Amino acid sequence: MNYTIIGGGFAGVKTALELAKDPKNAIQLISDTDTFQYYPTLYSSATGRSHLESWVPLGEIFAEHDNIHVSIDRIIGIDAEHKEVVGATEARYSYKTLVIAVGSVTTYFGIPGMDQYSYGIKSYDEIRRLKERIYADLSGQKKLDKNYVVIGGGPTGVELAGALGAYLEKLSEYHDVKRPHVNVRLIEAAPRLLPRSHEKLSARVQKRLARLGVEVQTDTMVEKATAESVIAGGRPIASHTVIWTSGVANNPLFAAHPDIFRLNPRGKVVVDNHLRAHKNIYVLGDNADTPFSGLAQVALHDAKFFASNMKRKKQRKPLKSYAISSPPTVVPVGDRWAAFEWGWLRFYGWPAALLRRCADFIGYSDILPFGQALRPWHASTIEERDYFTPTPKSHRKSGSKR
Ligand SMILES: Cc1cc2nc3c(=O)[nH]c(=O)nc-3n(C[C@H](O)[C@H](O)[C@H](O)COP(=O)(O)OP(=O)(O)OC[C@H]3O[C@@H](n4cnc5c(N)ncnc54)[C@H](O)[C@@H]3O)c2cc1C
Repeated sequence: MNYTIIGGGFAGVKTALELAKDPKNAIQLISDTDTFQYYPTLYSSATGRSHLESWVPLGEIFAEHDNIHVSIDRIIGIDAEHKEVVGATEARYSYKTLVIAVGSVTTYFGIPGMDQYSYGIKSYDEIRRLKERIYADLSGQKKLDKNYVVIGGGPTGVELAGALGAYLEKLSEYHDVKRPHVNVRLIEAAPRLLPRSHEKLSARVQKRLARLGVEVQTDTMVEKATAESVIAGGRPIASHTVIWTSGVANNPLFAAHPDIFRLNPRGKVVVDNHLRAHKNIYVLGDNADTPFSGLAQVALHDAKFFASNMKRKKQRKPLKSYAISSPPTVVPVGDRWAAFEWGWLRFYGWPAALLRRCADFIGYSDILPFGQALRPWHASTIEERDYFTPTPKSHRKSGSKR
């Protein structure tokens, strides 16, 4: 293999696809999961939309590429001297050029009880656990929790809080549980929501959330979580459904190899202007210390940049230096409303929501052929009802096999 890629996310998958355009390239992609995860729609899959919008099998993505070989393994070691990486299966994979794009991991900043008692929406299993909790309430006590507390006023927290109320109301109706009002709270430590965006945008988003019935508490530190409450700003909030969307840290794979990688104060890998971290080792996407890393668009950009430089290298052309401008962001808040920002340009409402739909299609078609990209894109219009839970009796039609 002339290219070995670790990570089957945005940067890893796109790098493989770009390199595979040259049939002479042999590419090995090693991922700890057989599915590509489309993170931008996880909040929506967690609140009743089809899981097909967020998970695409790697086999489907690479079906037409004979020069990409996928291995399912979790890489736990890198031996730069012998040019090998070591998997949890104890397999050793040799490389000529190594690309690492293993994404970020969740951190709880040491808040007591948070890792044990909070729910996450970063993976299929986390979403499933959250849905099972809600279903246990609906089927057992026949009532919802008193408070649903979303922690983190970044894009994920805002998107989730905006969609949660309507989802819980629909579920209550579906399970024949009376629930006149759903109490959703969004807690953020910074003085305003979406602290990386302009103040005007933060204010508009907060107003929109208020209209959706979400109680926003900014400037509030979360101190502790227990099985039945969360302490925020010194006050306990009764809740057994605390959802953690805050806090990401770099993958620990890099800190485990201080002889190979130099990390910046935030733990991201220092790379040169070709995204190279060490001889024949390149680091892309969330892992790299680049100006806007932490966004899917940046991971895709890194992949295209790297592959294009590899092509130039083969053609003996001078390599290009890394450059990236501030990417646009679109944050959906409830049904048919979003906030768009790109530099000084900001707009809100359904035009922004429409733009987000288009952006998602572009995102899918970055990893799938046009026709296939329609499938996950269309899936986000499909209501999954309650995919993880049985259908209540009152909703079963006689003779239904569901
Ligand atoms: C809930 C959520 C919502 C988001 N929404 C948006 C959004 O709307 N717009 C946006 O631009 N960005 C969004 N992001 C950020 C975006 O998803 C990331 O920036 C992007 O996924 C980074 O791509 P990546 O390839 O670096 O990492 P990932 O896409 O995270 O891919 C890493 C891959 O590596 C695999 N892996 C990890 N460790 C190992 C190992 N040791 N061995 C083998 N494989 C391994 C993982 O399973 C995964 O497949 C969101 C993130 C989250 C968590």
